[in-house]
Amino acid sequence: MKYQSPIPEVKVTKEGQPCRHCGTPVIKTGHNSSWKPKAGQPYYFEYWFKCPNRKCKAIFMVEDAKVFLYDEKQESLLERIAELDLEFEHAISK
Ligand SMILES: [Zn+2]
Repeated sequence: MKYQSPIPEVKVTKEGQPCRHCGTPVIKTGHNSSWKPKAGQPYYFEYWFKCPNRKCKAIFMVEDAKVFLYDEKQESLLERIAELDLEFEHAISK
């Protein structure tokens, strides 16, 4: 039997990196186009990596893929700012 070297504990951050559990090159995946984050969800992952090995099915989340969502208060404030901007543009174009 061949000796299998242990898989080093490296973070999976790129497609094709070996799975930390079984060494299979991972593939990049993400939500389907109809997916939307749930209301009140503070953040979501834009993409992640999964192990294509059916017996393993490991999933690796990447910190870089984290997308932070505004909370409602902040969002309404940003909308208000956008409105004010429009009012301002309107005022100076007169
Ligand atoms: Zn695996």
